[in-house]
Amino acid sequence: MANSSLCIVLRASNYKENDKMLTLFSREWGRIDALARGCRKPASSLLAASDVLCCAEYAFHIKDGRYYITQAVPKTNFYDIRKNMNALMTALLLLEICEKTVMPAEPNGRLFALLAGALYALANGSDHKKVLLFFVYKMLDIQGLRPMLDACVLCGSEPATKINIAAGGVVCEHCTGEKVPPQYIEMIAGILHTPSKNIHTTELSYDKDFYNLGIRWLRSSLESEPKTLSLLH
Ligand SMILES: [Zn+2]
Repeated sequence: MANSSLCIVLRASNYKENDKMLTLFSREWGRIDALARGCRKPASSLLAASDVLCCAEYAFHIKDGRYYITQAVPKTNFYDIRKNMNALMTALLLLEICEKTVMPAEPNGRLFALLAGALYALANGSDHKKVLLFFVYKMLDIQGLRPMLDACVLCGSEPATKINIAAGGVVCEHCTGEKVPPQYIEMIAGILHTPSKNIHTTELSYDKDFYNLGIRWLRSSLESEPKTLSLLH
């Protein structure tokens, strides 16, 4: 197909009588707003590919810089995520983060693979907090904010088991930071070394403080607070 791309639907809004405006994360082109004409009619061939969380190969007609979906071949809609409220809220948070992060005409294949790997894990029963922790640290890496773990991020000295989130990594005994258990740093390193497709099969024995550290790190990396974050438990 000419002008076609594998995409995940980040947002879907009703438009006019039978249409939807979709915000898509395209593996090839970054963020795209595309009109799905007639997709709300029951017989529409686009019906199955016009909701959030759908992953499909979309074909477009591009006119005056606007994208019109002409065809869609659904791959998955991660259906089972909807059976668990925590999995669903986490998935919606990941979509919201991608919507804020992915720019039009800026392909980001690594973030696309991370989102797909995280949604697959959620659809297949992975612990939602584990999935979110993987997503946060791997996203930091992809965005050029990979936590520095092998030397003090402020002065380059031998690191202590201390972290400074704002500075972006571990710090030494003399620099400002918060003390953390040594295994926290090993866990972050382990996450960074795990391929996105292995999120589902990789164990992580985190505790409440490690989870909260991840959430604070996520917050510090985003310009605005995701709405979905406050709904998560
Ligand atoms: Zn230092």
